Amino acid sequence: MKLLVNFSRGKGRKPIIAQVVRDTGVLINVERANIDSSEGEALIDVPDDQCQLVRDSMTSLGARVRLLDRGISYNESECVDCGACISVCPREVFSFDPAWKLRHEEEKCILCGKCIDACPHRALTLPL
Ligand code: SF4
Ligand code: SF4
Repeated sequence: MKLLVNFSRGKGRKPIIAQVVRDTGVLINVERANIDSSEGEALIDVPDDQCQLVRDSMTSLGARVRLLDRGISYNESECVDCGACISVCPREVFSFDPAWKLRHEEEKCILCGKCIDACPHRALTLPL
């Protein structure tokens, strides 16, 4: 399951993900991370049956954790069918239909985030 983790980096800069791996023994796959000197956001993938354990452990360390149980959100009204998302998506979530309109298969999405930055019209966002 995908978890979106937000944390601040105070004095001491605790390596939260590393600490949770050590404390729980769960192997965490980091899909993407944006971390600067004051805060961080990471999208992680954990086994379904250990999701709650990881979530509780991260929360106890001060992180905010949100379960992402849907694929990328697609706002059709903002889309101009440019195809930029097709070329960057590693899971072939997007394709053109015979009329060159964008087709979107959300169930294939692994929430890697690559299409969000590629879209010039901000038609793609993380699910709420
Ligand atoms: S988040 Fe990644 S897998 Fe999902 S649609 Fe975008 S590029 Fe494809
Ligand atoms: S990159 Fe954005 S505007 Fe272009 S086809 Fe994909 S969703 Fe539509």
